[in-house]
Amino acid sequence: PRRGLDRELARLDGAPCGRYKGLVGAWELPDGGTLELIRAQADPFAPPARVAVHVPGDLAGFPGELWKSPVRRRALAGYLVRQAAREAASESAYHIDAGGQEVLDRSSCTVGDDGSVTLRLGVALPGPSRRVDGRRAQRLLWRGLPRLVDRALRYAALDAEKMWEFVATVEDSAALRAALSEMGLVAFVADGALLPRRSGADDRPARGSGLVPFRSPDELRVTVTLPNAGEVTGMGIPTGVTLIVGGGFHGKSTLLRALETGIWDHVPGDGRERVVALSDTVKIRAEDGRRVERVDVHAFVDHLPGGADTTDFSTSNASGSTSQAASLCEAVEAGARLLLVDEDTAATNLMIRDARMQALVAKDREPLTPLVDVVRSLHRDHGVSTVLVMGGSGDYLEVADRVVMMDGYRPYDVTERAREIAAVPTGRHAEAEHFPGVVPRRPDPAHIDAAVRGRPRIRARGTDYLVYGQDEVDLRAVEQLADASHVTGVGLAMELLVRRGHLDGRRTLAEALDLLDQELTEHEGVAALLSVRDDDFAVPRRYEVAAALNRLRTLKVNR
Ligand code: ADP
Ligand code: MG
Repeated sequence: PRRGLDRELARLDGAPCGRYKGLVGAWELPDGGTLELIRAQADPFAPPARVAVHVPGDLAGFPGELWKSPVRRRALAGYLVRQAAREAASESAYHIDAGGQEVLDRSSCTVGDDGSVTLRLGVALPGPSRRVDGRRAQRLLWRGLPRLVDRALRYAALDAEKMWEFVATVEDSAALRAALSEMGLVAFVADGALLPRRSGADDRPARGSGLVPFRSPDELRVTVTLPNAGEVTGMGIPTGVTLIVGGGFHGKSTLLRALETGIWDHVPGDGRERVVALSDTVKIRAEDGRRVERVDVHAFVDHLPGGADTTDFSTSNASGSTSQAASLCEAVEAGARLLLVDEDTAATNLMIRDARMQALVAKDREPLTPLVDVVRSLHRDHGVSTVLVMGGSGDYLEVADRVVMMDGYRPYDVTERAREIAAVPTGRHAEAEHFPGVVPRRPDPAHIDAAVRGRPRIRARGTDYLVYGQDEVDLRAVEQLADASHVTGVGLAMELLVRRGHLDGRRTLAEALDLLDQELTEHEGVAALLSVRDDDFAVPRRYEVAAALNRLRTLKVNR
């Protein structure tokens, strides 16, 4: 690294902002550590300068126990970046991507396997004029960043107890998730968990009186031993078909949403620290208007009025039911082991068709086969479990392995009673026996192009849209994305799939995603995506990457 950043900044005072470019590179900081200017900021309206601060292990001083495993390094980084963001909150020129309730692998902070810490942030350097303000730049870079390191990225400056709690919580959550399969479970909700959120737009735990902590029903209670917390009890949801029933407003969707985010680890105090689901859990919902490219949906949709071939189905404007059918088949194609469906966001005609409607509309006039007739085969023949919220139709009682009733925010196992009721025939007959599986597709990389005038354009617009080249991918129905940085991560991962040649037109999507997974492992994902672009992002799962690809308007696949 070069020396004398303070003198250089003083020297540039009054020069045009473009001159910042000359400072790109690594610089020694006064109290140790290095500052790396990755991208300069050309003018006050451009995105802030991109800066990385590297703190060597001996200066950071964290005991080896805190960074001995990849999951602990992720947790420690998650703790540190939140401290740094808090410490920097009064300086609006610093942009630190701390994240919310989920603790994800993020580019904003990483801990190396030597105990070193890297903080990546944006720094808005130019003042109001287009000239370098040397004093301001010195204050932000030369004095401010070392102070940030000193207060937020060193063991000695931090609350050791809180830090350990954070790391232990994340490690326990990851261990719990990893233990699910062995226990024959697809999800677990610990006793005492607090599931409701403050509001639809605020993911923090709900407050106030009337909150009902989770308590597992006797029949589904299991005990697990976690590395830090020891024995924990809660509701284990076994593999198979699980139905969540209950009156409106009794907490069904809240439980399902907690399972949706159970793929991520949560910060201490979140209430969902010990609510986990398989990493291969995908929420499925209706999404009319979405694009579908050559998906075999014939298990759910057959002989459409126009005569379209539903074993090879494409549309630029899917209906509610066909969109949900396509999303389900795509999730299975990508490797999902657990599907989550909520009646609130599902297409009714894809979910149910009762005896009377069967009597009125002959099967050859109805293109749709409802999920109720396919869901058992999904598990039996394909190993894909389902958790389904369904308060409005009893037809699912026949196909459910177990039925959980939410009553006043408390779950009860009502499987026995449900069996008795289901034993009385309704006159309904099954419309299908099997889910036939999915036809693998081979995406053509030539139609996945982030370049705009020769430069890649990959940008999140909140959690709703991914700008990818000329396309704006609608991700509003992809509900398991944690935040905007996650969306950026999805875009960078798509670009990585193409650049690395993982998508070559011959490989199936699932095979390409396997290769992506190998690159996005816990300790390498950030570095792999940084190689595409140094930016604020969180490392995504294969399912969200697949979801974005599937919604790309330009996507073309071979089969
Ligand atoms: P349903 O899907 O059964 O109609 P919801 O899950 O949407 O019900 O919950 C209805 C309301 O109850 C929401 O405002 C939610 O925040 C609140 N709620 C859910 N679970 C709890 C709980 N355990 N304690 C207190 N309030 C809760
Ligand atoms: Mg609901």
